[in-house]
Amino acid sequence: MAWSFFGGIRPKEHKEYTCDFPIRDFPEPDILVVPLFQHIGVPCQPLVKKGDLVTVGQKIGDGDGLCVPVHAPVSGKVRAVEMRAHTCGANRMSVVIENDHQKTLCGTVVPRTREEVEALSPQELIGLIRQAGIVGMGGAAFPTYAKLSSGLGKVDTLIINACECEPYITADDRLCREMPEDIIAGAKVIMKILGLSKAHIAVESNKPQAIRALNAFLSREDGLQVDVLPAKYPQGAEKQLIQAVTGRQVPSGGLPAAVGCAVFNAATCKAICDGVYRGLPLIGRVVTVSGDIVMAPKNLMVPIGTSFNDLLEAVGHGEDPYKVLSGGPMMGIAQYDLSVPVVKGTNAVTILGHGNDLGADHPQCIRCGKCIRACPMKLMPVLMYQALRSGDVERMRRSHMMDCIECGCCAYTCPGCLPLVLGFRSGKHKIREAAAAAKSR
Ligand code: SF4
Ligand code: SF4
Repeated sequence: MAWSFFGGIRPKEHKEYTCDFPIRDFPEPDILVVPLFQHIGVPCQPLVKKGDLVTVGQKIGDGDGLCVPVHAPVSGKVRAVEMRAHTCGANRMSVVIENDHQKTLCGTVVPRTREEVEALSPQELIGLIRQAGIVGMGGAAFPTYAKLSSGLGKVDTLIINACECEPYITADDRLCREMPEDIIAGAKVIMKILGLSKAHIAVESNKPQAIRALNAFLSREDGLQVDVLPAKYPQGAEKQLIQAVTGRQVPSGGLPAAVGCAVFNAATCKAICDGVYRGLPLIGRVVTVSGDIVMAPKNLMVPIGTSFNDLLEAVGHGEDPYKVLSGGPMMGIAQYDLSVPVVKGTNAVTILGHGNDLGADHPQCIRCGKCIRACPMKLMPVLMYQALRSGDVERMRRSHMMDCIECGCCAYTCPGCLPLVLGFRSGKHKIREAAAAAKSR
């Protein structure tokens, strides 16, 4: 049974730009910039230095704590290990690789047979997933091995998230249509680790081809079922998805495991299949490169470390972009330096024209309450914004700003054009800083 969630919006989808075009391999660039920070947690330390030769899939960074390794996406020579621009907005330590275009594979990239995988224990599988550098690929980039470890013994329901509710983005839709068996194989690895016999693959009703493709393979599989959910934003947000599939509500500040659930993105399942069966670490991903001024929007299989500039050149645009986002128009982060590289969490590059400039030179709240009706977290964005403007961190905290999932529904509906999400991001940062300062006193 499909439940629903409070609030949400139905923005124009714009998925028709790319949804019917198959995934194409992006030609490997001559230079790749691979950040050592591509996940939530502790950044990697470099394992290579300037002048070293590297091979495809070779580990080039790793670390302790909440950390997953990064790997070379191409073979070639390390030109530098230095600070470079990153999609997070700051400069980050990165390995710059000069591609020799030889595609020399690392000796650690060794496929496994179905029998070999079946013989592995849950802990061994979690170890392989860590070694493959896999993170949540819907944008969150939380280390997958850590999510699996923390779910052991606590989860009774697995949800594979193939909703992809953000406008413009169709990368997961194409993966489901073109590689359903990989997604299902990855999901079955997760089921084995968590000791589950059943799982849901959640897809929005606006993706009939993806639903058909998955169902065609599922007829031969046990325990997995496709749940077709109404197309509504943010259907793919973790808490909203859990409520839509199971009717359970994750408590404020809680994790999905608190209600017995675990959610993994469809692209993450594909990466698990690659890592476990093909021995191939996470060195590339499907990226939707689209937007209202893009001449030839595409879904591209892109090596990690490819610059946004290269992608913009590949699709072309009719006018100077007003905004280039890492991600979609609702949750994406505006990029000001297009030399930034594609990282593991980059599901889309969205290029928007000046028609998206709403011309709000003087944003002003007119107290219409639309943001409150739109918020899927049942928050009061207008009051949160007042708390933010006051600069009073305690007032921000009391407004439940930390429960904001940054979905952008409030900003989308706001006739006063207030920069709500941007404000809440900075407010959450201030609350975290204040909490850390209080802890260290
Ligand atoms: S961005 Fe935050 S406050 Fe705004 S609608 Fe989404 S969850 Fe609510
Ligand atoms: S939608 Fe915008 S203008 Fe309306 S109450 Fe919320 S913040 Fe104010």
